[in-house]
Amino acid sequence: MIDFTFSEEQEILRANLRKFGEEKISPRLAEMVEKKEIPQELIKELSEMGLLGMCISPEYGGLGLEAVAAGIVAEELGKADVGCAIPTFFLVQCAWSYILDKYGSEEVKQEVFPRMRKGQAFVGVGVTEPDAGSDVASCKTTAVRKGSTYIVSGEKGYISGVREAEKYGGGFVTLAKTTPELGTRGMTLFFFPIKAVGGVTTRYTEELGREGISWGGFYMDNVTVPEHYRIGEEDKGFYLVNQGFEFARGLIALVCVGAASKALENGINYMKQRQAFGRPIASYEGLQFVLAEDYSKLEATRLLAYKALWMYQKEQREGGFSRFQVSGAIAMAKMLAPLWAFDAANHAMQWQGAYGYSMDCPEQRALRGIRSYTLAEGSTEVMKLIVTRELLGKEYLAYK
Ligand SMILES: Cc1cc2nc3c(=O)[nH]c(=O)nc-3n(C[C@H](O)[C@H](O)[C@H](O)COP(=O)(O)OP(=O)(O)OC[C@H]3O[C@@H](n4cnc5c(N)ncnc54)[C@H](O)[C@@H]3O)c2cc1C
Repeated sequence: MIDFTFSEEQEILRANLRKFGEEKISPRLAEMVEKKEIPQELIKELSEMGLLGMCISPEYGGLGLEAVAAGIVAEELGKADVGCAIPTFFLVQCAWSYILDKYGSEEVKQEVFPRMRKGQAFVGVGVTEPDAGSDVASCKTTAVRKGSTYIVSGEKGYISGVREAEKYGGGFVTLAKTTPELGTRGMTLFFFPIKAVGGVTTRYTEELGREGISWGGFYMDNVTVPEHYRIGEEDKGFYLVNQGFEFARGLIALVCVGAASKALENGINYMKQRQAFGRPIASYEGLQFVLAEDYSKLEATRLLAYKALWMYQKEQREGGFSRFQVSGAIAMAKMLAPLWAFDAANHAMQWQGAYGYSMDCPEQRALRGIRSYTLAEGSTEVMKLIVTRELLGKEYLAYK
């Protein structure tokens, strides 16, 4: 009735990713952290493995794979780069190119996908604004129709991958108000190619973790955006953007699980060889019990995340679940994963004593990288709002 095994193809995908992580990513992490940029060779290899936009249709060069397969990649990349820069580079493009593929115009797909697939264009999401994050409906960016174009004005902030889009090209799936008086029902989704349109200025923000991918914002001053950059119908953007967030959140949950599993693995190795009071510290129950709890929590989150992605792909393909069932399952995984993964990485640091606190210990990178996901693509608190909206009903939402 229930089968928890992955298919043979999925196991091969995982094995290939594990090998790629160990042989290609791990040896270059120090360089990536120092330069704060993902080495070009790694981006090229991600491209050659078909992982850049892996869920877009084969007619645009994608593998056409579904969400669970993307989850496997996310988990393995999380293990390989516990600082979460490469996983973010992967997952953001995976989720948002999927939305672009599903709802974008033929012109925009022809323009963006061939270059994105080669690692020569970045596809991200630019929804957050300096004054509007969780409360997406209060966003101030507007898009006013003018003939076959839109005039877009506003500012997006705290966005992942701005330098990548500025350097290589590409852009952001961006939400703007087209009928402001209608709130969320008056928002439209666009692909905003920050280099290909004039009047865009960028800025950057230093962050705590994720060394290797940039973080910043872009300001749009009456920018003319041709109509073919619109994604889906006018005023339907809020509905579409949530489909992208759900996909990204499911992947984030597995990145967190991957990074924290690696931290536990390192912690286990350390506690088995470190002696204190005449015995390996692994023999003390004080450490064992924490390990047992962390491991079990990660396994529970992992199962929940794969189930949520499976529900997502089923609902996308053929229905069978309501949108709210899917968003609820995804939100549970995204709520738990960064919190429990953060705890696990923190405990793995503690087991490693003073070395654990040093910058030489990889677990501090995991801690900082995982921390980003209590906010990125929707905060932990917003995930709780989504879960309780399902449990209690919409009439108990604290806001409308
Ligand atoms: C590392 C990182 C990468 C990011 N990348 C991107 C990106 O690529 N694209 C993009 O568009 N955005 C990105 N973001 C922005 C992210 O989506 C927002 O930070 C997030 O949605 C929260 O919005 P905010 O920061 O404006 O906080 P606010 O919405 O101002 O909230 C502040 C605090 O109040 C809490 N809060 C708000 N409302 C409620 C409520 N009703 N009940 C309880 N608590 C509440 C929030 O959870 C938060 O803790 C990124 C953020 C980070 C940290």
